[in-house]
Amino acid sequence: MAEILGYNGWRPNRDHDAPNFGGPKETYPATKFFDNFAFIGNKNVCCFLVITSEGLVLVDCMNPGDELYIEQGIKDLGYDPADLKAVLVTHGHGDHYGNADYFRQKYGTKIYMSSVDEAMALTPKTRPDGTISVLGWRVDGYIEGGETYTLGDETISFYATPGHTPGCLSFIIPVKDEGRPHKLMLWGGTGVPMDPELQKKYRQSVLDFTAICAREGVDCEVSNHPFVDQLCERLDVVRVITNGTPNPMVASVDAVARTLNMFKDLVDHRIALGILQ
Ligand SMILES: [Zn+2]
Repeated sequence: MAEILGYNGWRPNRDHDAPNFGGPKETYPATKFFDNFAFIGNKNVCCFLVITSEGLVLVDCMNPGDELYIEQGIKDLGYDPADLKAVLVTHGHGDHYGNADYFRQKYGTKIYMSSVDEAMALTPKTRPDGTISVLGWRVDGYIEGGETYTLGDETISFYATPGHTPGCLSFIIPVKDEGRPHKLMLWGGTGVPMDPELQKKYRQSVLDFTAICAREGVDCEVSNHPFVDQLCERLDVVRVITNGTPNPMVASVDAVARTLNMFKDLVDHRIALGILQ
């Protein structure tokens, strides 16, 4: 079969030269790319800051130990971390829930995740290096597919996209580019799992979410692993353009479908490899 490459030449689960899961943390400046939406992260994993009329929301929380980096990123963007009202976690892996408890302890921030993935994260797992991975705290509330979270003038919609994890959520978030409204999607779970049942679910979730994004007119996309869709390279452009220049983070409904099709290619590739084995 033809070799299928992700964006940036990334190959699912086997390319250790390109930036990858758990790869080197090449830092990147916190960057606002919509009126109400900003990137905080490194080239391996990131979170997003949603700016509302009633405070700040963090989408994902990177790895445990990254909380000071995130806190500084919020300050660098010109916002006060004390205004952080909620952390919305896409799925129950440590590189996305991080130590959200740091913000809860310091600022009273509420933490939300799907119930299925909180249960998964509370189950201890042994990493390849022998250390144990387990969520050391409980969330404040659950978010599930079909639900929304509203703070001030922002409403974020959640969609169940099981596959990467059983309770993985993808988000649709209204954003504004110099006042012009757009809709942005975040595909919540990137890596294709080894479990064939979860692979099937991943594939169906991509198809379902592609239809939802088309129906909703979603015309912008991000991932919480920036190497997958060259997010930092696009932000390089954002950082040098002036108002009035087209924003490279504004894509199109068709481009969003193509990005999701890339994830379908990744899972199809993994399924084909499994069949060949
Ligand atoms: Zn994950």
